[in-house]
Amino acid sequence: MTSETNRIPEYQQYIDGRWAGSTRLFDDLDPYRGTVMARVPAGTRADAARAVDAAAAAFPAWADLPPAEKQTLFLRAADIVERRRDEIAGLLAAETGCAAGFAGFQTLTAIRLLRQASNWAYLPVGEVIRSDNPGTFALALRRPLGVVAGISPWNGAQVLAWRTVANPLAFGNTVVLKPSEEAPITAGLLVAEIMAEAGFPAGVLNVVTHAPGEAVPIADEFFERPEVRCVNFTGSSATGRILAERAGRALKRCVLELGGYNPLIVLDDADLDYAVEAAAFAAFFHSGQICMSARKVLVERTVYGPFIERLTARAQELRSGDPADPGTVIGPLITPAALGRVARDVQDAVAAGAKVLTGGTADGPCYRPTILADVPAGARIHSAETFGPVLVAHPVENADEAVAIANSTSYGLSAGILTSDSQRGFALARRIDAGVVHVNDQTVADEPQLPLGGVKDSGWGRSGPHSMADFTELQWVTTREGTGGYPI
Ligand code: ADP
Repeated sequence: MTSETNRIPEYQQYIDGRWAGSTRLFDDLDPYRGTVMARVPAGTRADAARAVDAAAAAFPAWADLPPAEKQTLFLRAADIVERRRDEIAGLLAAETGCAAGFAGFQTLTAIRLLRQASNWAYLPVGEVIRSDNPGTFALALRRPLGVVAGISPWNGAQVLAWRTVANPLAFGNTVVLKPSEEAPITAGLLVAEIMAEAGFPAGVLNVVTHAPGEAVPIADEFFERPEVRCVNFTGSSATGRILAERAGRALKRCVLELGGYNPLIVLDDADLDYAVEAAAFAAFFHSGQICMSARKVLVERTVYGPFIERLTARAQELRSGDPADPGTVIGPLITPAALGRVARDVQDAVAAGAKVLTGGTADGPCYRPTILADVPAGARIHSAETFGPVLVAHPVENADEAVAIANSTSYGLSAGILTSDSQRGFALARRIDAGVVHVNDQTVADEPQLPLGGVKDSGWGRSGPHSMADFTELQWVTTREGTGGYPI
């Protein structure tokens, strides 16, 4: 819900089915222009408390709502996203610097997710298990948890916000969503607006926004309230670790989709033209600001020279600039601080002996697609995620060495193996420690029905219908015929 002051829209929070103002607003900045694109409530712990109250009150009725009624609501929301996709793309460009290609990917995936999730309320919710006690009928039944607190990021603002809310809602939970302060509209308030229009009951989804640096009081409310049974987080591994520690202390579940240092392996039998396109997409789509972006390309030495030469030329063709311009591939990084971090990681690697094959400089608020070679093991970028369009190139002697390097980081989200021999690729895929491996394809992919998620420092939990395990609990129920038989 918006109003306008001096033509800058002002947003409100969404709590208990109502739009709620705030005594304090903060500036939501356009990362390309550096201008204020909207003013958004600087929500407080008291707002989070009201949101948790509303979600807890809405939970019993939502949990019991017949699947057909849930289905109608999800399908209506999908239709609204479809109808508003151009407007959503405009907001994604203005708020997150997202160019047209990634905006289209986000809205399409969100629409598919909502249509898929509309059926998840029908999934079987239990098993009959044989009991050793004669006359006892035993069941394992799934029940929703209660209130799920969602914490969503700015990078894939729309698609990740929808994933944060749709999975737990589909299994009968209610949700309080706290979007990133870098994308309070597209990662939060816009989802509330669409769900309100679709007719979801009051309190089923609540959205609380906050000013930069003020996430902790909202999170305090999530961890300290007994009604909140799970914290569902997508973001950096550093923040995920803090939240997992807090969840441990509070004995709450947490679902974590975190960072990655995703390897792309190019074998000597790969189609090199295709491999170059795949690598350019994996490393530079959305300026490398995707958790699944390829960070290191491991190329068999016999094809390393021609592959790198062609990839370097391809990277130089990618146009950076205004994300609202349909010809732009490389939009801005999300903040000047993010640009500074990427530039520093590259400079540190170069100071330690790395070679810049292309890029290595900023273009206004954008960072040019960059390929580094000879990155020494001591450089941060050698094995830690840098959230920008920077790819580390590394020759390997054979596939075994590629697998060993792929598994040598602390992360394990996504990997790609480019080969024209699918048997060979499949055998290697089974040896890679990652939640997702694509054979003869690259690392960036999302389909709502498939179990996206990581291992090691990339987190735990899976999206899609498999998230039933995360967003429900099993209850053992028995009924017994007859009496007696106890040993005292
Ligand atoms: P990034 O550095 O890419 O913004 P973060 O992991 O810091 O990634 O942010 C992802 C989400 O986590 C955002 O919604 C942000 O507000 C939130 N967040 C960051 N720090 C904390 C924290 N200490 N407690 C709770 N949420 C946090």
